[in-house]
Amino acid sequence: MNKQDFPFFNNTDIIYLDNAATTQKPQCVLDAMSEYYLNYCSNTHRGSHDLGNKATQSYEQARKTLADFFHVQDNEIIFTKGTTESINLLASSYVKKNFDTVILSELEHHSNILPWQLQDLQLEIIPLDKDLNIDLRVFEDILKEHPHSFVSITHISNAFGIVNPVKELIYIAHKYDCKILIDGAQALSHIDIDLKDLDADFYAVSAHKAYGPTGVGCLYGKYALLESMDPYQGGGSMIDNVSFEYSTFLAPPFRFEAGTQAIAEVIGFKEAINYLKSIKKEEEGLLSYAKKKLLELEDIILYTNATNVLGNISFNIKGIHHEDIGILLSKQNIMLRTGHHCALPIMKKLGINGTIRLSFAIYSTKQEIDKTIKAIAKAVRMLR
Ligand code: PMP
Repeated sequence: MNKQDFPFFNNTDIIYLDNAATTQKPQCVLDAMSEYYLNYCSNTHRGSHDLGNKATQSYEQARKTLADFFHVQDNEIIFTKGTTESINLLASSYVKKNFDTVILSELEHHSNILPWQLQDLQLEIIPLDKDLNIDLRVFEDILKEHPHSFVSITHISNAFGIVNPVKELIYIAHKYDCKILIDGAQALSHIDIDLKDLDADFYAVSAHKAYGPTGVGCLYGKYALLESMDPYQGGGSMIDNVSFEYSTFLAPPFRFEAGTQAIAEVIGFKEAINYLKSIKKEEEGLLSYAKKKLLELEDIILYTNATNVLGNISFNIKGIHHEDIGILLSKQNIMLRTGHHCALPIMKKLGINGTIRLSFAIYSTKQEIDKTIKAIAKAVRMLR
């Protein structure tokens, strides 16, 4: 199951089920980054020397690879540190200046809540149904009351794996003169994303959750919108002209890439995208297998019966603290995540302070799920 592509697993029997936090990296990504450091390490978009030109070429090839992957134009891809920075950039450079209200769902990650609060924007929250889904009629009613707002919604929930109907959400948002961002942090590794077909105004991802390096991601934006936006940060590489009286800036995407970028990571990101294109994503079967097996455990609490789920599954065992399970499983070399998963509002709504979460990647196997369920049962026996 592609495990041989990931050197992390070469000399370990660790079962790694915390892929929603970050994935392991395939050899091709590590090689591309070392190749840059070993053979053509230099800064981009600056000098006229050959090494710099090679680094610039490789960096810009990464932008093209991403643009092709998402079916958009090269100049609509801005490299950022990841989803969090993408959303902060948008909040500061665009939403703050054009909107009073941001519409979110109850399921959002903190990085799709705090950037709006930090800009003093008014939040309107879409309540979820009992299976943690967005009811499109409820969404539309909110938009009727708050037309010309900014909407920002996750594609896949990192806390409960719910896949939101983003195409419909985008369509409805546009009917009410809203602009919309989709937080694709969890979607990149699990779903084929065609931004042209979706017609999203903005889309944000992090490379590290899809077999790429940490510290890099991107923000997609429709070019006309990006063109209307002021810079997020000032510094080298993003200017047209500078004087002490007045400065002018480059066109997007360079306007938004101030200072030396994470060059090796961008190059690694490109390889991760090439890797994603080469694999068959098979985790859907794993998730329903894990759910079936979990339901065999006594006192299991699942929080949704939704079938539109991908990537992760969250649960608790009645009467047992989620963290105790996490600690005991770690001792058995099984790495899973416990806690609120940076989604405190939904935890509060459910009246809990956290869950146990299994999250999958292409190297996850049914045997690993079997071992994990056995280990959970053993931990429960010890804790009772
Ligand atoms: N949104 C979602 C749904 C996420 O799962 C995460 C990461 N857990 C983020 C945003 C933030 O991503 P990053 O930390 O890579 O910026």
